[in-house]
Amino acid sequence: MKPTDSIPLLNAASRPTILIVDDDETIQELVNLYTQEYGFQTRPCASAEAALEEMRRSFCPIVITDVQMPGMGGLSLCRKLRHGKWPGYVYVIVMTGHDVEDGVIEALDAGADDYLHKNAQPAELRARLRVAERIVTLEQRLRRTLESKARQAASDPLTDLPNRRTFDRRLNAEFKRARRFAESVSVLLIDADHFKQVNDEYGHQVGDEVLRHLAVTLREHLPREYDVLARIGGEEFAAILPHTSREDAGVVAERLRAAIESSPFPTTAGKLNITVSIGVGSLSNRLNTEPQTTLDVLDEADRGLYESKRLGRNQVTVAPAAEPRTLLEVG
Ligand code: GH3
Ligand code: MG
Ligand code: MG
Repeated sequence: MKPTDSIPLLNAASRPTILIVDDDETIQELVNLYTQEYGFQTRPCASAEAALEEMRRSFCPIVITDVQMPGMGGLSLCRKLRHGKWPGYVYVIVMTGHDVEDGVIEALDAGADDYLHKNAQPAELRARLRVAERIVTLEQRLRRTLESKARQAASDPLTDLPNRRTFDRRLNAEFKRARRFAESVSVLLIDADHFKQVNDEYGHQVGDEVLRHLAVTLREHLPREYDVLARIGGEEFAAILPHTSREDAGVVAERLRAAIESSPFPTTAGKLNITVSIGVGSLSNRLNTEPQTTLDVLDEADRGLYESKRLGRNQVTVAPAAEPRTLLEVG
């Protein structure tokens, strides 16, 4: 045995599970035996149909399948595995009969990654499984890296909240849905009051602590899991409240404002009293009569915020519902 043979690509607990599909019990048991001997977890299936069901129940990244089976058969299984939606790549090894050479081309065309003759030596099975393990391990690592990069690109590193980009994307999606189903959606723009003074007086680090506390407190006081809270600028946050009317959004905003006002933030410079000003904008459910865009609603909320600041800060301003514009005005 070469030295590298003894080093599994992943530790035993996380090595890929292999689905073994064969209607012939003897072959199935034999492949099962060897595969387990090489340290893989296995799950046997007696038909392609059973294999698909098993995959849906619990995903297996490697499948070894016979071609000739009653029912759907191995080639259809390959195609279905290739075209199905799975949580990761499925590496398929097809077992071909003793002397059916051209079955190989069909199997590869049907989506198999590799093939193995049934009379192959166990060492060949092992070698091909190592290739399979290498590919699925690489794919899993790549996918995890991509997922983590996507998460990073979508969130703000200081508060871990969704960032401006994610906020815009979610807002567009919520608007589309609200229009389609004639529902309301509201937006809150939330800005810390005199935040520059916090930085000036206690330093930027303490300012950052306050922003983190602000994020946590706001999130805690948003009623529903599907409400979106994002950090869209330095000391500016925004919330999307799906299925929420203008009036109800005003109530939520007031609750957030009061919560911030009444909970002094613990920081390394001691407890600090922070307040926020909030502006509320809303798409009400008057379908077809109110041609507001996301920009209109953000503008509404922004004007509300400006008004809250102008009136002395630490308050909520709900913009009055806009008069429905005519089609001519919309252009
Ligand atoms: P107003 O009540 O009018 O909103 O006053 P303000 O001081 O909060 O507003 P202004 O826009 O004048 O200042 C915002 C401050 O927020 C200035 C900027 O240095 C600070 N800031 C922006 N991003 C961050 C950050 O990530 N960390 C810290 N510590 N401060 C930030
Ligand atoms: Mg501010
Ligand atoms: Mg600001």
